[in-house]
Amino acid sequence: MPRFFVQQQKEVLVKIYLNGKLVPERQAKISVFDHGLLYGDGVFEGIRSYNGRVFELDAHIDRLYDSAKALALEIPMTRAGMAKAVIRTCAANKTMDGYIRLVVTRGVGTLGLNPYLCEKPQIIIIAADIQLYPKKLYDEGLSIVTVGTIRNLSEAVNPRIKSLNYLNNILAKIEAINAGCMEAVMLNAQGAVAEATGDNIFVVRGNALITPPTNEGILEGITRNVVMDLAREQGLEVSEARLSRYDLYTADEVFLTGTAAEVIGVVNIDRRQIGDGPPGPVTRKLVKVYRQHARSSGSPIA
Ligand code: PMP
Repeated sequence: MPRFFVQQQKEVLVKIYLNGKLVPERQAKISVFDHGLLYGDGVFEGIRSYNGRVFELDAHIDRLYDSAKALALEIPMTRAGMAKAVIRTCAANKTMDGYIRLVVTRGVGTLGLNPYLCEKPQIIIIAADIQLYPKKLYDEGLSIVTVGTIRNLSEAVNPRIKSLNYLNNILAKIEAINAGCMEAVMLNAQGAVAEATGDNIFVVRGNALITPPTNEGILEGITRNVVMDLAREQGLEVSEARLSRYDLYTADEVFLTGTAAEVIGVVNIDRRQIGDGPPGPVTRKLVKVYRQHARSSGSPIA
């Protein structure tokens, strides 16, 4: 079958959840006056499904509602209703192994900033295929750089809010790409390690795993929290502590965690080789344990 035909067929099949209805992609349209578009005013989640189950659905829904709360954005749906809507969208698209994007925008407003003049928030759910890092990168590890764009100040736009305004991360990503890397390490205003542009960061020292605490200016990653639990089960010591670039350069191992990337080793930072070169034994173990766990738990797509 010619490739374009497969793509066309797929396009027809894609159903987008928009404010309570499943509509074909071509009809899934929102207003140019939506403040999600005009001001990045809204919140979102990226979620995975594995083997016909949605992974950590409740944790993602909780984070979505917490982000919305921080923005004084009242989601016109209960958490249970939102979880059901995600499952329904996956079922309609047969997204058994995929990536789900859940978006809540402030809604249609005026050209002014005032969010209280916006009509109802818009709820969008897209169940799509997952774009993964190539397998080679899991075997060989990533080379990354620290960049000049500092992570948003918690006192200004708290990075714990997963908002539709991702310019801080995009500016850092541009710097990484310009430096020939796929990811960047972002520092906070004190020069401490915060996180990567779309992933959390961990260092390994002997039997200990260390990651920055949430008050260093990070998104509290759901993968991060799962990995911390799994690592403890593996007998590793896990702590949250301030990390400097020196701590990264001199670590035995470094890895990133995130919904899309899962767990991926970092082998070079700012042209310093990390540890012995390739991803080390702790990282490789956690990549494996996380994959097994993710593929065998979650809310069934019925
Ligand atoms: N930090 C940032 C800035 C992110 O956008 C993400 C999600 N892509 C993460 C960390 C990882 O979070 P999670 O494990 O919940 O996907």
